[in-house]
Amino acid sequence: MDAFVKLQDIAIHMGLEPAEETPNQPGKLPTPSIAPCGEPLTPRGLPLKKDSLGIHEAVRPDGKPMRLLKTLLTSACERNCFYCPFRAGRNYRRQTFKPEEMARTFMDMHRAGVVDGLFLSSGIIKGGVSTQDKLLDAAAILRQKYHFRGYLHLKIMPGAEKEQVRQAMTLADRLSVNLEAPNDRRLLDLAPKKEFVQELLRPLQWADEIRRAEPDRLGWHGRWPSTVTQFVVGAVGESDLELLTTTEYLHKQLRLRRVYFSAFSPVVDTPLENNPAENPLRQHRLYQTSFLFRDYGFDLEELPFNQQGNLPLEIDPKLAWAQANLRENPVEVNRAAPEELLRVPGVGPKSAQTIVAARRQGTLRDERDLQKLGIATKRMKPFVLLDGQRPSYQLPLFDDTMGA
Ligand code: SF4
Repeated sequence: MDAFVKLQDIAIHMGLEPAEETPNQPGKLPTPSIAPCGEPLTPRGLPLKKDSLGIHEAVRPDGKPMRLLKTLLTSACERNCFYCPFRAGRNYRRQTFKPEEMARTFMDMHRAGVVDGLFLSSGIIKGGVSTQDKLLDAAAILRQKYHFRGYLHLKIMPGAEKEQVRQAMTLADRLSVNLEAPNDRRLLDLAPKKEFVQELLRPLQWADEIRRAEPDRLGWHGRWPSTVTQFVVGAVGESDLELLTTTEYLHKQLRLRRVYFSAFSPVVDTPLENNPAENPLRQHRLYQTSFLFRDYGFDLEELPFNQQGNLPLEIDPKLAWAQANLRENPVEVNRAAPEELLRVPGVGPKSAQTIVAARRQGTLRDERDLQKLGIATKRMKPFVLLDGQRPSYQLPLFDDTMGA
């Protein structure tokens, strides 16, 4: 069968898997699932395709834009995860690539100038170890036979072995293992054939052990790949506290670069098809909070959970913290430590650095001094002092809840 027909068949369901197309920083609502490009592809011999091949506008970890082909080695699967369109027994046309065929197809598209990077996952056939071997074969062919040096995000299969994780780390820029649920109890309701610790968490732990114990030069391109994971949010009643307890562990102990939150959306002909879709705003608040752990020095216990263990949807978690803690104790911009500046709404890692550098040159006396540095002051004004004075501000009629 034509490889592009296979890609199209697989791509129909791949929008459910977030990857590098979601924002790297808080501030904007994530585009829920960015549609595959869907543009007709005509360059240099590729057939005209009106439907998607699974190419997504994405952002590399270094911030550069790229066109990412998100696809699977096979859309057949022997497991039965309750939320998943690829689950065993679901009736639709499955497609399978051999590793060489996948590598060749991607390289044809890369040479034709329509894709820059590859996100490669797979359904599971004959167990996680055997499936992982095929993914590794495809990656090795890309790197060694076709000398592809661009971006490769490789999925680690449930149950993969430590040596396979190490090998993947010598081939890929990024690895991911989808935990799907925050703990084993919730996973049982989502994916009863997966084991939370042994099959899913362990490979993420191994990846970090390898990064800590072995020299960077052994990794792809002389550095170890970053690791990421994904949670399905809102399918089985888990609380934000459950999700964020695991998220904090992943960021702070295992140094995951990203935790993706995927608001549940029911798929027909699955056991969860009648469950309601999750509110995308919850997904957004979870992203904002995970960035607070990763980049802003916040701890779980500082967050305003309600009795059910959920965060308020109506307000940005950083703003909620600042309203409770900084309104009466504003931060003096000229003296605050960088980590204190980072806690002020509207101040991110870059603007904190800019402020620290600028105040070495002289005292920042008013709002205009900050604005001259390119810093937006609207969100920070209620929570800071400039040379001992509060900048003037008007209490908003409504909280602006989307900012950093
Ligand atoms: S193992 Fe992966 S592909 Fe298979 S049903 Fe579960 S989530 Fe879907």
